[in-house]
Amino acid sequence: MDIKEFIRNVPDFPRKGIQFKDITPLLANGQALRFVIKSLADEFRDKDIELVVGPEARGFLIGAPLAYELGAGFVPVRKEGKLPYHTLKGEYTLEYGEDKLEIHTDSIKKGQKVLIVDDLLATGGTIKTVVDLVEKLEGNIVGLAFLIELGFLEGRKVLARYDVRSLLEF
Ligand code: AMP
Repeated sequence: MDIKEFIRNVPDFPRKGIQFKDITPLLANGQALRFVIKSLADEFRDKDIELVVGPEARGFLIGAPLAYELGAGFVPVRKEGKLPYHTLKGEYTLEYGEDKLEIHTDSIKKGQKVLIVDDLLATGGTIKTVVDLVEKLEGNIVGLAFLIELGFLEGRKVLARYDVRSLLEF
């Protein structure tokens, strides 16, 4: 299946000079959505993943069905102030902004096998923050999975120690 067809390029969103990769057409197509979730799951099916960790908001949209498909749990990473219980905090810079992310301190047990997921890898800033939070909680990061990778931004370089998989590269 050619999933590129389901990714819409939106120029100058949310700022001039950024070409936004809009995955909503893919999410809205049942066959395409099932294909991408199964394809990402196939990359890690034999790795006994216990937890999928994904940042809001699009990391939830890919991460939760992927966790279900792998028979794993899902742990949300959210913007500051959204999670109700005790949290660990990390700061990061985005291709188009800055923010803080949080995870519940009791969400990962030491040594649990974790797959980190987001819709898109750009500079890697967001996901590196998620990696650092998972490592502080002593999760065992088995790999990182993305639907889309913007290769020219070289986000992989900040994730060199990890098994990084993406379905589509631009
Ligand atoms: P980065 O931290 O630079 O790797 O940016 C990745 C995060 O920002 C992901 O959560 C993406 O959803 C979002 N993002 C960054 N650049 C884009 C883009 N060009 N199109 C869509 N989403 C993007």
